[in-house]
Amino acid sequence: MENLSVTNAQQCVLEAVAVQGAESVRLEQSLGCVLAEDIRANRDLPPYDVSAMDGYAVRSVDVAKIPATLKIIEDIKAGDMPTGIVMTGQCARIMTGAPVPQGADAVIRVEDTQALTENKVQINVAVKSGNDIRLQGEGMRNGDVVLTAGSEITPGVIGVLATVKCAQVQVVRQPRVAILSTGNELEDMDEPVDPNKIPNSNSYALMAQVQALGIEPALLGIARDDPEELAEYLQRGLHFDVLLVSGGSSVGVHDYVRPTIEALGVQMKFWRVAMKPGHPVAFGVLQRNSDGTPKETFVFGLPGNPVSSMVCFEEFVAPALRRMMGHARLYRRTITARLTHNVKHQAGRTEFIRVTLAKEEGGYTATSTGAQGSGMLLSMAQADGLMVVPADSVGIAAGSEVTVQLLDGTVFQEDAGFKE
Ligand code: AMP
Ligand code: MG
Repeated sequence: MENLSVTNAQQCVLEAVAVQGAESVRLEQSLGCVLAEDIRANRDLPPYDVSAMDGYAVRSVDVAKIPATLKIIEDIKAGDMPTGIVMTGQCARIMTGAPVPQGADAVIRVEDTQALTENKVQINVAVKSGNDIRLQGEGMRNGDVVLTAGSEITPGVIGVLATVKCAQVQVVRQPRVAILSTGNELEDMDEPVDPNKIPNSNSYALMAQVQALGIEPALLGIARDDPEELAEYLQRGLHFDVLLVSGGSSVGVHDYVRPTIEALGVQMKFWRVAMKPGHPVAFGVLQRNSDGTPKETFVFGLPGNPVSSMVCFEEFVAPALRRMMGHARLYRRTITARLTHNVKHQAGRTEFIRVTLAKEEGGYTATSTGAQGSGMLLSMAQADGLMVVPADSVGIAAGSEVTVQLLDGTVFQEDAGFKE
């Protein structure tokens, strides 16, 4: 299909990809993954009623009239079990987290008391029954589902998993991603500087975009614009779940990517999207047979221009990878901002303008990073976000509200958040 809208192209990609299967990983390796199982509490927490404060466990009726003097019958530290029962006129010294002894029904924090002798204390406040007591099971109840399949594993989730002693956790398997750059003109990192060459930045920028999603990609290097060499590199890449190919997808006579991947059995779904930058972006699927089980490789042909490559990653590859990883929120968070200057636009393609954001009373302003050529990688390096100019726009006036996709951060949302 030619010249899809960005939304239709996103839909096409998301319909093709599916959530990966599950695998078991160590808790320490699970941050950023998505849970593939429900997790239940394996005990009540707290296991019994415990003190929320360092202080004294008392009978609330004994401190109805203050000040009240009580006899201290024991010292209960966290990890200790009480030995006595608190009777009328008595109390126990208690530490945060220690079990509340029988007879007591409230805790008075130490700040509200005054030590009289070694075993006598004066209570200076009256409290209700239950004061500063954490009830058994108020944190979690044995057998209850505390985390559901589909939840992203955040540091807080790791804490809960550790609490229920989940040393191995079932997560959605991360897709394996390979990155291949193409072009005779490219010079790789380890090659000496040649003024006639173009440094390969796409492999590394794409690598970082994949890493930012929590996946470690494989870098396959640079394939030259030669059908045979290209086929060899592509074949290597087609063993992965996702293959990103940078460059060579335009219509130049030396742009061999499309015919070569098609010859390798990849079924192209689209190869043009009505967007700027990123017009010549392609997507295809290879049905392969791995160990007798059918599997797919999703191939993205990303434009060679460095900004186009990164923008197309954001719009198409990132949501696809997030879906494969099991996330429900696939898209970068969007915000509304006030444009600080006029923006020219020729109707026809959705445009993504690199902007910086600044806080102002009641919201944010968006300002273009300057020249927006698709080769101007600095515009991407400086940007806080991508401002979306709808395809049918004939320009946006200073002061207008615009939608900006945030490039930074780990928070995603369920829909693309912009109109075309
Ligand atoms: P192409 O899509 O192959 O026609 O490339 C378009 C432009 O992007 C050309 O100016 C290339 O030199 C440049 N380009 C292609 N691949 C890369 C890369 N890996 N890193 C930086 N620039 C690239
Ligand atoms: Mg090229």
